[in-house]
Amino acid sequence: MEREILIERRFILAKVQEIAERISADYAGKEPVLIGVLKGAVFFFADLVMHLTIPCRIDFIGAASYGSGRNSSGEVRLVKDVSIPISGKPVILVEDIVDTGLTLNRIVKALRQKGPESIRVCALIDKKERREEAVQLDYSGFEVEEGFLVGYGLDYDEQYRYLPDICVLR
Ligand code: 5GP
Repeated sequence: MEREILIERRFILAKVQEIAERISADYAGKEPVLIGVLKGAVFFFADLVMHLTIPCRIDFIGAASYGSGRNSSGEVRLVKDVSIPISGKPVILVEDIVDTGLTLNRIVKALRQKGPESIRVCALIDKKERREEAVQLDYSGFEVEEGFLVGYGLDYDEQYRYLPDICVLR
């Protein structure tokens, strides 16, 4: 399958730096728990955490929608829960892409039940094209109109995650 670079790694890193500065300022004096959504957000998550200038704790949550390839069925299940307590803690959920919004809302709902002090959401890519549910994005990197993206952790049937840039599949 053909692919084309959409966002080069240097632009990704500049954006990550910018988001990290905002989070560090907003959470000054606090120690948030950053929760990454497996597996797509892992590269973004690591870059983001390393650019923060405040102490934080990290954890991961796993979500999967039924089906594989480009289209999800819209049914989201949680396949891995967080392993550290988040009750009373400020939480920042870190997601790769928000598309329909179903995954994000499902995860936020599950995390809310654990009684965190607050939950904010950070997403690298905001794809508004297929939005079905309204989502509250507190920190977002890039708005992308259309196309299926791979690279920088994003996959197509588990391929292409290793690419350093964000690419679009043709
Ligand atoms: P949503 O539930 O918002 O429709 O979908 C969110 C999830 O679908 C993302 O976390 C991501 O895993 C996957 N997704 C949505 N769009 C893309 C895309 O363009 N490329 C890849 N690799 N995954 C996507």
